[in-house]
Amino acid sequence: MTTARPLTCVACGHTEHRRIAEARSGRAMMRCTRCKLIFVVPQWTDPLAENIFHTYDGWPAGLSGGAADRRGIMQGIARSLLARKPDGGRLIDVGCANGMFFDVLRSESASTARRQAPIAGERGRSPQPLWRFYGVEPDPRWQGVFQPEITIRAQPLRSCHFPGNFFDVVTLLDALYYLPEPDKELAEIARILKVDGLFVFDIPGQWYLRMRGIIGRFFRLQRTRPFTAYPFYFSPFSLKHLIQNAGLEVIVTEVGRGALQSERLFRTLLSGYIAAVKAVCRLGPGWPPYIAPMPVYYVQRRDRNRL
Ligand SMILES: [Zn+2]
Repeated sequence: MTTARPLTCVACGHTEHRRIAEARSGRAMMRCTRCKLIFVVPQWTDPLAENIFHTYDGWPAGLSGGAADRRGIMQGIARSLLARKPDGGRLIDVGCANGMFFDVLRSESASTARRQAPIAGERGRSPQPLWRFYGVEPDPRWQGVFQPEITIRAQPLRSCHFPGNFFDVVTLLDALYYLPEPDKELAEIARILKVDGLFVFDIPGQWYLRMRGIIGRFFRLQRTRPFTAYPFYFSPFSLKHLIQNAGLEVIVTEVGRGALQSERLFRTLLSGYIAAVKAVCRLGPGWPPYIAPMPVYYVQRRDRNRL
C-alpha cells in the first residue's frame, strides 16, 4: 500500500513520530513528537478513505451516526450558535449523518424566538432566525431521510465545489477525526465560510480519552484502548497549527458535554468530571482544549479582523 505523502505530521510538518498503539484496523498509530497529533500509518488520505463506506476497511462499523446520543450536546452548541448568529443564514453541517443537528437547531431557534417574542401590542421584528440548511454526508445509508428543503450532497466536502465566501455557519460535529487530510479540509472550510462567518466543531480531548481508558480498564468496561479507533486524535497544539495554517482562529473554546455513556458508572463519573472541569475553566479560559471531554471550538476567519 502506498501513501500519498511522505510521513510528515499533517498538522505541524514535523517528521519525528513514535508508535504508540495498534489501531483496530491493524495499522500503526503514531504520535508526532512535536505537536502530539496521533495519526494512523499509512496516513489517512482521500484515496484510502474513498471506499470507507463500502468496506469500513477495519474502522468501526456505524461510522456515521453510531450509538452515541448527541442531542444534549447539540442543544448546547445550538444555543451558543444562536447567541452568536441570531439572524440565522446559510448553514452547512459537514458529516450531517441523519440530520439530527438540523432538527435540534430548528427547535432551539423556535424556542429562542418564543422567549424573545415581543409583548402583544408592541412593535418589533420577529426574532425567529431564518436558516437555509445544507449537509454533506458521504455515507449512502442516510440518503433519502432528509426533508426536501435541506440540500444534501452525498460526497466529501472538497468534491462539492461550493462557492467561496458562501456560508454563514459551518459545523463539523464529532467528525473531524474521520476526515482524510484535515489540513486540506480546514482550508476548504475557511474558503467557503463568509468573512464574518462562524465555524463550530467538537472533538474528544486526548487527555480525557486517556483517562477514560485507564478507568475503563480498572473497572473492566468497554472501549478501554484509547487512540485505536479513528484515523486522527488531535492535541490542542496540533489543532492550533491546523487552524492557523487554514487562515482561521479560535474565538473561544467551551467545555461542552461528553457523549451519553452506555455504562451507568461512566455516566455518573462523567457528570462529576464535567462539573469539576467547568469549575476549573471558570478560572482560566485556556483550559477546555486540554481537560474537557468534548471541547467545542468556535472559530472565525483570521481576515475577519480587517472588516
Ligand atoms: Zn506534529
